[in-house]
Amino acid sequence: MPYPDLKMLIAGEWTDGSSVKSEPVICPADGSTIGTLPHASPADLDAALQSSLDGFNVWRKMTPHSRQAVLEKAAGHLEDRFEDISANLTREMGKPIGESRIELRVAIDLLRWYAEEGKRVYGRIIPSRFPNMQHEARKEPVGPVVAFVAWNFPATNTMRKVAGALAAGCSITIKPSEETPATAIAIGRALTDAGLPAGVLNIVFGVPPEVSEHLLASPIPRKLSFTGSVPVGIHLQQLAARNMIRCTMELGGHSPVMVFEDCDIEAAAKLCAAGKFRNAGQVCISPTRFFVQDSIHDRFLALFTEQVEAVKVGNGLDEEVNMGPLVAERRIDIMDGFVSDAVSNGAELLVGGSRIQSEGSFFAPTLLQEVPDTARIMTEEPFGPIAPTARFSSLEEVIDRANSLPFGLAAYAFTGSARTAGVLKQEIEAGMLAINSLHVHSVETPFGGLKSSGYGHEGGIEGLEVFLATRYSSEIYS
Ligand code: NAD
Repeated sequence: MPYPDLKMLIAGEWTDGSSVKSEPVICPADGSTIGTLPHASPADLDAALQSSLDGFNVWRKMTPHSRQAVLEKAAGHLEDRFEDISANLTREMGKPIGESRIELRVAIDLLRWYAEEGKRVYGRIIPSRFPNMQHEARKEPVGPVVAFVAWNFPATNTMRKVAGALAAGCSITIKPSEETPATAIAIGRALTDAGLPAGVLNIVFGVPPEVSEHLLASPIPRKLSFTGSVPVGIHLQQLAARNMIRCTMELGGHSPVMVFEDCDIEAAAKLCAAGKFRNAGQVCISPTRFFVQDSIHDRFLALFTEQVEAVKVGNGLDEEVNMGPLVAERRIDIMDGFVSDAVSNGAELLVGGSRIQSEGSFFAPTLLQEVPDTARIMTEEPFGPIAPTARFSSLEEVIDRANSLPFGLAAYAFTGSARTAGVLKQEIEAGMLAINSLHVHSVETPFGGLKSSGYGHEGGIEGLEVFLATRYSSEIYS
């Protein structure tokens, strides 16, 4: 299963583009160079933009049923290529192969679900206050879309945008992460092999701020969809404002986990460890601040410690491994900084706390206890394999502490009390809340944040709605 030749997709052609610039793609498990990625020149970006307008005018006129047929065929190609794509996802991103397979399975499900749902984009007939008049509200594809996505889920981050846009009848130009390009290219190849018309999907790479500045200065895009950090989201939103481009912002999080004394403690400890170290904690909805009620604190920590110590770290291509490397060397110093800051502020290091292995960007699964809310890791998104824990006494106190940050993406609670669950559903400021599990997304449910974590959704009918515009017309019929 060789790592593929990396190309861009511009105006229906797989190309190296006209720029002389390129960059290496590094395997985080051993630091080796596995590919060379071409960059788009300004002329390439202009060609992509023009073709996305031309492609839009072809694709929007096709029926949802004929669009679904193309997308279904592409889903079949992804299934045929399943093992190769999963292995290359692990090689470029680092996550365990089992996680790559689950991610690709979800991406295929997303494509199929959106393709079907595209057939159910209904308008409304609104009763008129005037005789013989009809009001009609139609849902139409919003126009050419521009998207930028992070590297942590190379398949689903890409597919949430591509499948939603295409099912709604939009064209889309996407810049996946330069660190994990092969997975998005594989999705693009499945779609072009399935007969997607030229220009309906463009895939470009380059220096991210230069690409976004160029694409968003054009009057062609009518929608921007971004998955990444809060500061970059704010910057892109400012660029989009110049052309009144509407936005969906899927941004960072800092999810609280509230472990109450009336929960199933063993089950909670097991789930918390599995959830925290999934993708080495490089997950926007990763459980991050663990608040444990006083009366069960020591018991929960003992169980959590056992679970963290059992995590097997190594090359993600090894089927036995539960946690791979961080995506890149640059993340190691960031993790070191979080641990030393927490310890110097009074936290106790229970497990891990430093890099492991000299080759590859591996950081040990790390557990900290008695971490003060003022430590950096309790307020800044760590995006790594560190679990900071702290105590709490009452429901009211933990709600205040959970809601105290500007983030509002996901939140989790473990409790046997229906009353506690009911209060949390009302009071927790998060776009997604899971009680007695860490499950906050399915292809048919709305995924999205509140507060600084962004707005707009991916998944569910809400995920299609963001690619639609409402158009009204009235008619006197006699
Ligand atoms: P980042 O914002 O620096 O980069 C994210 C992606 O955007 C990268 O692929 C990068 O190439 C691109 N990018 C960066 N600057 C850009 C610019 N000026 N113009 C266009 N593209 C640009 O974030 P990161 O630290 O690399 O990724 C992790 C972040 O993404 C975390 O904050 C995480 O929570 C967030 N994230 C959010 C979701 C969600 O659905 N809410 C999902 C995954 C990741």
